[in-house]
Amino acid sequence: MIRLQNIVKRYGKTEVLRGVSLTVAKGEVCVLLGPSGGGKSTLLRTINGLETFEAGEIQVDDITLPPNGQPGRDAALVRIRKRVGMVFQQFNLFPHRSVLQNVIEAPVHVLGRPVEEARAHAKKLLDRVGLGEKCDAYPGQLSGGQQQRVAIARALAMNPEAILFDEPTSALDPRMTAEVTSVMSDLASEGQTMIVVTHGMGFARAVAHQVHLLHAGSIAESGPPEEIFEHP
Ligand code: ADP
Ligand code: ADP
Repeated sequence: MIRLQNIVKRYGKTEVLRGVSLTVAKGEVCVLLGPSGGGKSTLLRTINGLETFEAGEIQVDDITLPPNGQPGRDAALVRIRKRVGMVFQQFNLFPHRSVLQNVIEAPVHVLGRPVEEARAHAKKLLDRVGLGEKCDAYPGQLSGGQQQRVAIARALAMNPEAILFDEPTSALDPRMTAEVTSVMSDLASEGQTMIVVTHGMGFARAVAHQVHLLHAGSIAESGPPEEIFEHP
């Protein structure tokens, strides 16, 4: 479960999140839509501590992340980053490490999992995203869609409570977008909790449990997709 209460985030004097509240239950897919500059990416990055925030509270299961400067923030951040995975538009894989090494990196170095166990788990995850044959390849040898599926396997390798996707298909052509979207749909149907920033209305309609429209740092509209996309 992820719960945001009245999150306020400023860059200098500009308020880019103006009191955002939302709750994502376990197993839910939450899609954030809205015009560029509305604060979608900032909101995702705030949830897993890549950005600070000035007021409000973020809760991930039993972890409470307070605003910037409040006691307990650092300890909460360490715990949240182990529980919440992130997938970026530009994949962000280590270019000089093989696909398998990319996937086992965090389980081994952050969670202290034994290497052999992490490798076995990583191979299963790479099979699951259709890349079982690519364990020894390097990111530069893969298509964008394949790299993004490695990034998804890497997030899954931490057994995360939730995965945050920041425009995961925006750098991909339609065929690769469909490959990645199909992996994300499978995860959703297996009950993976996720928050997805996307311009892909098809994914939002088909997969989301709830959609939030973020406009100028505030949630302008929220609801299930059948309500949000209902045309009069
Ligand atoms: P979206 O993901 O909806 O396109 P963003 O979260 O990227 O929106 O941006 C929200 C607002 O925050 C925009 O006005 C953007 O210019 C501003 N912003 C984002 N990152 C920074 C930064 N590092 N410094 C200053 N302003 C920023
Ligand atoms: P669009 O807004 O063009 O539909 P999306 O990113 O939502 O963009 O979808 C991109 C591709 O993913 C399309 O080829 C679409 O058919 C496919 N797609 C959308 N939803 C699903 C789904 N639930 N399962 C599998 N593929 C999907």
